[in-house]
Amino acid sequence: MDTTVFETHESAIRGYCRNFPTVFESASGARQVDEDGKSYLDFFAGAGVLNFGHNNPRMKDALIEFIQADGVAHSLDTYTTTKRDFISRFQEVILEPRGMDHRMQFMGPTGSNAVEAAMKLARRATGRREIVAFSHGFHGMTLGSLAATANDAFRQWAGVPLDNILRLPFESAPGGRTAIAEYAAALKDPSSGLLPPAAFLVEPIQAEGGVNVASASWLHEVQDLAHEVGALLIFDDIQAGIGRTGSYFSFDGMGLDPDIITLAKGLGGFGTPIAMNLNKPEVDDHWAPGAHTGTFRGQGLSFVAGTVALDYFTDESFLADVLAKGEVMRERLTRIASAHRDDGWEVRGRGMIQGLDTGDGAFAKKLQQECFDRGLLIGPCGSGGRVIKLIPPLIIPDEELAEGLDLLEQAIDATVK
Ligand code: PMP
Repeated sequence: MDTTVFETHESAIRGYCRNFPTVFESASGARQVDEDGKSYLDFFAGAGVLNFGHNNPRMKDALIEFIQADGVAHSLDTYTTTKRDFISRFQEVILEPRGMDHRMQFMGPTGSNAVEAAMKLARRATGRREIVAFSHGFHGMTLGSLAATANDAFRQWAGVPLDNILRLPFESAPGGRTAIAEYAAALKDPSSGLLPPAAFLVEPIQAEGGVNVASASWLHEVQDLAHEVGALLIFDDIQAGIGRTGSYFSFDGMGLDPDIITLAKGLGGFGTPIAMNLNKPEVDDHWAPGAHTGTFRGQGLSFVAGTVALDYFTDESFLADVLAKGEVMRERLTRIASAHRDDGWEVRGRGMIQGLDTGDGAFAKKLQQECFDRGLLIGPCGSGGRVIKLIPPLIIPDEELAEGLDLLEQAIDATVK
């Protein structure tokens, strides 16, 4: 294989590529094959983009049919049958069964677009500036979303102050359990000089931040404070949503009622880009049509594949299967972690997003390399990259899941030695 590209195409090859130093050529389900014919199990899945697998056959058929029928592939400022089908199917499958009256707004191709728009709308709707975000949170790399992202290594590239954000510790971080109550008290104390925020921006499960799972009670505490001070509650479900936890939203079944939900990644189903916000009507009303525009806000191919993706959520056995596979992952990781109890290894997650906290970024990096050599793609996350995050496609067959977990275990044994 010609790997000189990794030395010569400095600007084109990003960090991720350096961690997976090969050139991939084809992919199917949970497998990717490089141009030398080596096969890899994908437990990274585009950081949650490929929930339904690479080249999902149902979506592929629908896309081929759409292209053959000369469907409208791009629909800026126009309405199309594919856009209409996606909207009505989403309402039918996701919103109506939950009694949600949120409006669907297409924000652009990527997650940061959704977060930017959510922050902008919250500020517009409340007339306030500050947004409360949380330690270890990841919301994107564009200036607004980067301001809300906690990671200093990413923030240092901004070149301008990233302001109008107040960062509180996430529930699992030191001080996180009392932070909301303390902030509430400070807001009520005029001498604190604090003004009420426009919104609280939360990942119910922090993915990039180290697979940190917020409890329902903590999320309710945030929601209660938001209601009390007239701020909006924004849930960023871009990575943990779309079935990843065994339900459509990562916060399903907890009795929570966010004002804005940001979705992207797996929403387009096929890896086709689309970002969408679900806005409560009374919030959404603060934007006139055309107040927030963008060229790629809803793309025909994404609507077609995304509509097929919604079919999975009408099938109870699909979500039960996600939970069962999540349990298999959890059990295996728990067994691995207990063998490394003295090193403080810990397992966190829900459904098919599971993280193994090894407490050591250098070790996790070596482990990622060892996994890669053995044909398993995994991505580290969390502080210093010390958490191994497992997010295989939700449709991975049981045997491939077991095979990937075996590879991980073998790679750990080889790396620890
Ligand atoms: N929010 C969350 C929770 C994410 O995980 C990501 C991407 N990792 C983003 C926002 C930003 O999405 P994008 O990279 O598509 O802009």
